[in-house]
Amino acid sequence: MNQNTNHQDRVFNFSAGPSVLPVSVLEQVSREMLCLPGAGVSILELGHRTPPFKKILSDTVSRLRAILNVPAEYDIFFVQGGGRLIFSVMPMNFCLPGTVGEYLVTGSWGDCAYQEALRSGQGRLVWSGQESGYSTVPSRDQWTSGRDAAYLHCTSNETIEGVQFPTDVDSLLENAPPLVCDMSSDFLSRPVDVSRYAMIYACIQKNLGPAGATVVIAKREFLERASEKVPGYCRLLNHAEGDLMYNTPPTFCIYVANLVLRWLEETFGDLATIEQFNELKSGLVYEALLRRPELFRLHAHEVCRSKMNVTFRLPTPELEKRFLQESEANGLAFLAGHRSVGGMRASLYNAMPIAGAEALAKFITKWVASPLAAGG
Ligand SMILES: *Cc1c(COP(=O)(O)O)cnc(C)c1O
Repeated sequence: MNQNTNHQDRVFNFSAGPSVLPVSVLEQVSREMLCLPGAGVSILELGHRTPPFKKILSDTVSRLRAILNVPAEYDIFFVQGGGRLIFSVMPMNFCLPGTVGEYLVTGSWGDCAYQEALRSGQGRLVWSGQESGYSTVPSRDQWTSGRDAAYLHCTSNETIEGVQFPTDVDSLLENAPPLVCDMSSDFLSRPVDVSRYAMIYACIQKNLGPAGATVVIAKREFLERASEKVPGYCRLLNHAEGDLMYNTPPTFCIYVANLVLRWLEETFGDLATIEQFNELKSGLVYEALLRRPELFRLHAHEVCRSKMNVTFRLPTPELEKRFLQESEANGLAFLAGHRSVGGMRASLYNAMPIAGAEALAKFITKWVASPLAAGG
């Protein structure tokens, strides 16, 4: 029946985002594209206040609440504008006069968030890994917080550098101000104790769906701190209130996220099981790289090597170029590092199958560099 889909043309997609989605989800999207069951029209044509869409939205929120064990006093909602919108609105919402937002910067995305707070003079850097080229994360005794901190912002997984807090970050952040975490690139990849955060957010194009939506999970009492003067769309509380439809929500994104959540539950059951699966995949790739230290250099320190984005380099730019060309020719696509840092990056999100990690590990093991590099 799927005469129009070309599975045989699909490559292993190591893109950092937008990124790989489960094939079964893509198949269902394509089956339902002309007519969403029970709606009589396509999801692309369906009004957001119709019963079928309201059901999709509330079901998506319930599934997130269940799989992450989100306490009742937290709201869950979707906004547009990506991770970047949240960077911009954090100070507006939460830095009341005389307070600042504190930033623990372990990579490029955390720095972007910090720069946004600096625009209004309301950002304070409490720790930065910049000097080490963002290859490490701090321990709790390496930074201190001020009494005037409205929140402490951190990034659980730095997508560009491949640096991840080894466990749910909260264990490192005791006695901290209200904790706000950008979990864009490791959302739903491992268990998280939501109750220890004031707010978690994630743009969904890394691990949950297509580009166009950001999920926010925040304590109601925290959201209520924003004054009425904050411009409407930017005031996060507005999105959390009522039927979660301050404006037209990104309907297609939410529909796909719903299917991804169902796939996650059916395939893995819970986040501890997904975490094992992700450890297995990243383990295969790291082991292959570590077996050839003369050729491959890992970017992140051992304790904080990301299980989502494996970052590594070769001795010369020429070799890196060849590696990228040859891996691509072998069906291993989008392994180039972020344009700001170069090198290689293998993103291994939830939907990357084991076969993809195995194929990459095998390629790394067998890859023959130029005679020069092999000899020297
Ligand atoms: C991708 C990413 C972002 C940026 O998201 P946009 O949707 O492009 O604004 C922010 N933070 C992290 C950790 C990311 O991986």
